[in-house]
Amino acid sequence: MKDSSLVAGVEISTEKEDLICYSYDASGAAAMLPFAVAWPRNTDQVINIVKFADANNHSIIARGAGTGMAGASVPASNGIVISFEKMRKMLDVDTKNMTVTVEPGIINGKLQKELEYLGYFYPPDPASLNNCTIGGNVATNAGGPRALKYGVTRDYVMGMEAVMSDGSLIAAGGKTHKRVVGYDLRNLLIGSEGTLALATKIRLRMLPLPEDIMTLLVLFGKLESSGTAVSKIIAAKIIPRTMELLDKSAIEAIENYKPVGLPTDVDALLLIELDGYPTTIEKEAGRVVDICRALGGEVIVAEDSMAGERLWDARRSMSAALYHIKPAKINEDIVVPIDKVSLMLSELRRMSESSGIKIVSFGHAGDGNLHVNIMVDKNNKEEYAKGVELVPKIFEVTLRLGGSLSGEHGIGLTKASYFSMEVKRRELELMKGIKGVFDPKGLMNPGKIFG
Ligand SMILES: Cc1cc2nc3c(=O)[nH]c(=O)nc-3n(C[C@H](O)[C@H](O)[C@H](O)COP(=O)(O)OP(=O)(O)OC[C@H]3O[C@@H](n4cnc5c(N)ncnc54)[C@H](O)[C@@H]3O)c2cc1C
Repeated sequence: MKDSSLVAGVEISTEKEDLICYSYDASGAAAMLPFAVAWPRNTDQVINIVKFADANNHSIIARGAGTGMAGASVPASNGIVISFEKMRKMLDVDTKNMTVTVEPGIINGKLQKELEYLGYFYPPDPASLNNCTIGGNVATNAGGPRALKYGVTRDYVMGMEAVMSDGSLIAAGGKTHKRVVGYDLRNLLIGSEGTLALATKIRLRMLPLPEDIMTLLVLFGKLESSGTAVSKIIAAKIIPRTMELLDKSAIEAIENYKPVGLPTDVDALLLIELDGYPTTIEKEAGRVVDICRALGGEVIVAEDSMAGERLWDARRSMSAALYHIKPAKINEDIVVPIDKVSLMLSELRRMSESSGIKIVSFGHAGDGNLHVNIMVDKNNKEEYAKGVELVPKIFEVTLRLGGSLSGEHGIGLTKASYFSMEVKRRELELMKGIKGVFDPKGLMNPGKIFG
């Protein structure tokens, strides 16, 4: 039952079957039933829900599509989940200023397709693009394969309207491509995982659609060579649109789950995409091929866009393929400097061999962002405990190499206990101070980031 009596005119439910559906996200973090779920249709309704929550001391949990991998939209027990799935309109395409304004619940992939049809390009492309929302992308500062060349969500958000925890409305950023007027509230909200305010309208920068794309599949007999190829390509001043790495176990997982004919007798592969004008692509491709061949790589060029898209479909099924094997796998998304990718891969292999726990690595190697999957079974207590023990060890190595605990998934609930490994006391005090100013009663997405 959808009951509007709690907040006048707003679709809201306290029915258990609704609460269950919004009690978890894609992270596997323990589910928690909220007090209620609300589906606002506009900013005024969001304000009314927040005012009701504020007056009754309910916490507020923003929810996009629940594809988050860090438990950031898992509710608190007394919380009201505000689901943005009914606020998904593209409000305005401003071709004179190269911007598009959207409601937060719009699906990333849908926005991309609509813009492509008009000849424009919104580059941030999380592998979950067919499900995740722009609001969720902004709150997690989502990246994706194209981040190497085009940057992450932060680089495309020009401004947003947001509702604060007391129901007041703010404008962060605006319509201009540049602005230097006081502190940058827009950038504070990006990546804040719903802990500061709720984005209700978002203005994004768009680019012209690139003329052409070439997809290369490069097969390596040695994992470390694939990491070396990544840093050599960058050092040669070539910035591909994507450079995705899959290790042997990742390739096997895809071939067992959704076969596309990837060879399973190699140690790693790189999926490289170059875009731009055809002449530039040809030139860059020649140099990429030379670098990869010199490292023992075998290069296959996708014959057309359909073949390229088949490879991307396979790449995007990676996460599902691994969950298929181990539903309780532990998934981290560390990031290291590009020139440390090869070293990090060797360290991961060493840790896997010494612990006896399988680790599958894949990800956006071009920007140093590796998805590290610790393949454990929750029913096997000993194995699971060993997997959990590996997490801080992996983080230690990551930080020692100058990296960071999360390249794109955020801290949420699942990484909150490791947060202080990277963020030290004084910085933590500053962050908590900011949180206190935005949200003095601590109602916005409690328990996330700071634990
Ligand atoms: C198969 C798979 C592949 C993935 N690949 C990638 C990838 O390549 N790159 C990447 O970055 N991530 C990836 N992710 C993670 C996830 O898709 C992203 O974090 C995404 O941005 C979450 O969007 P969502 O709409 O599902 O948000 P949710 O999971 O619902 O929420 C995420 C966070 O955003 C907050 N939030 C949502 N809407 C708003 C709003 N309007 N205002 C304020 N806060 C809000 C929530 O409170 C929460 O803190 C992947 C996930 C899966 C399952």
